[in-house]
Amino acid sequence: MSTVSVDNKKDNHSSLAENLLEIQNLKTYYPVKGGFFKRTVGHVKAVDNISFEIKKGEIMGLVGESGCGKSTAGRTILRLLKPTEGKILFDNKDITRLQGKNLREIRKDMQMVFQDPYASLNPMQMVGNIIEEPIYNFSKKSKDELKKEVMDLLEKVGLPPDAYYKYAHEFSGGQRQRIGIARALALRPKLIIADEPVSALDVSVQSQVLNLLKDLQEEFDLTFLFIAHDLSVVKHMSDRIGVMYLGNLVEIGGKDSLYAEPLHPYTQALISAIPNPDPRQKKERIILKGDVPSPINPPSGCSFHPRCPMAMEECSKSKPVLKEVKPTHRVACHLY
Ligand code: SF4
Repeated sequence: MSTVSVDNKKDNHSSLAENLLEIQNLKTYYPVKGGFFKRTVGHVKAVDNISFEIKKGEIMGLVGESGCGKSTAGRTILRLLKPTEGKILFDNKDITRLQGKNLREIRKDMQMVFQDPYASLNPMQMVGNIIEEPIYNFSKKSKDELKKEVMDLLEKVGLPPDAYYKYAHEFSGGQRQRIGIARALALRPKLIIADEPVSALDVSVQSQVLNLLKDLQEEFDLTFLFIAHDLSVVKHMSDRIGVMYLGNLVEIGGKDSLYAEPLHPYTQALISAIPNPDPRQKKERIILKGDVPSPINPPSGCSFHPRCPMAMEECSKSKPVLKEVKPTHRVACHLY
């Protein structure tokens, strides 16, 4: 886990702002096929009934171990994956079942920054063409106008003008991620879903890319869903944070409240594992037993109970619901 330093210009977001995104009871299940006839014999419950909202201009972090469903949640919200159940409201519009032209229209306003910038950039196209393609698809701009816009975007993400004529393989990992960010910004979206945007980069470059995202968020008035497994990265980026475990949202709260007083035993364990920058301040690390169980057959009741150091009898019998226990801080745990 890396320690990243980032300028925190905006810590608290106004609770009066409107919601840009509202997720209601969202489920994304994948069928598991088996037997001679390849029948559906079960489901991977990758996202299992999550609800949360993101206010306009807010950076919401989503954390959890790999396989907890956070990336699937991000892709479902963008409608790259089909939701099994639930509702996705974007800018007061229900986009859960949009298709064809209507879906393409809404995608202008929701863009993604991927973990592996190289895999998401066409190696056969010049960087200029990669960035201008979405603008070309959605507008009737002339060649000169397109080029000017791409040059502006390159400057905004800190790349030189001659990057326009180069190919993705000619750049370092950090520079490629800047290209991916420029492409995501090309249509001036309202929401960006950043899925582990710095986890493939050297620690020395991570801070630069995170600072860039923060600066762009202010300049373009963006709203972010920031997905990562690294809690120190999420802490520096986010106004509010949701913690996922085995497809469920187990805790959600303001960054300061969640880090100062994590309520869910799983969040407590994750936070205890963040390295302390001051080695004189020793803190006790909570080691969880066992591995994350399979989402095909999750444990009964609270799905964290086989690993939870605080588990009680009722934990294996009934599933706790997410409820507010402090202002704007919700947790799903029978201890509260
Ligand atoms: Fe642990 Fe029980 Fe709370 Fe689940 S509900 S986190 S098992 S104490």
